[in-house]
Amino acid sequence: MRCPDCNKFVSYDESNPEVEGDPEVTEDGDVTVSVRVVLPCAECGQELKDCTLELTGSISEGGTPSAPPKFEGKKAVREAALVEWRAKRAEYLKTLKPFDPEKHKGEGHELSAEADSASFTSRSEGSGRYCVTFYGASVPVTVSCSCGETWELELSGDERASGFEELV
Ligand SMILES: [Zn+2]
Ligand SMILES: [Zn+2]
Repeated sequence: MRCPDCNKFVSYDESNPEVEGDPEVTEDGDVTVSVRVVLPCAECGQELKDCTLELTGSISEGGTPSAPPKFEGKKAVREAALVEWRAKRAEYLKTLKPFDPEKHKGEGHELSAEADSASFTSRSEGSGRYCVTFYGASVPVTVSCSCGETWELELSGDERASGFEELV
């Protein structure tokens, strides 16, 4: 879009998505977190668009696969990096203990969730004129029960750039 400060068409820069409040967790292990993703002007940093995403997942499934990061370099290099990233991610997801709601009900069991940071994600679908870019966030969440057990999961999601709200 056109940046009013630069007065020309600009691309978006990456930004640090903001986690809004604490994530919510139900006694069945469903987790929801709100995160605000801002798209700043790549030239001057003016915030041009934003979108608040509601990310959901469940610790009973042992976490959700997150969107891959952006890889640099030639196509073959990027594809190889993506394959490696997916394999590592699959290994990581296997290490997560699934949550059993039956074991964490009643006295002495109260679930709470925390998320301190979020990372910016972007991906494109299609090519050339039909290329659609999605921007979003990936948020690592730690769920703890007052009995001492903890679980980790990564929530992620994105929205097409045209679905963001214009701020200027
Ligand atoms: Zn600008
Ligand atoms: Zn418990």
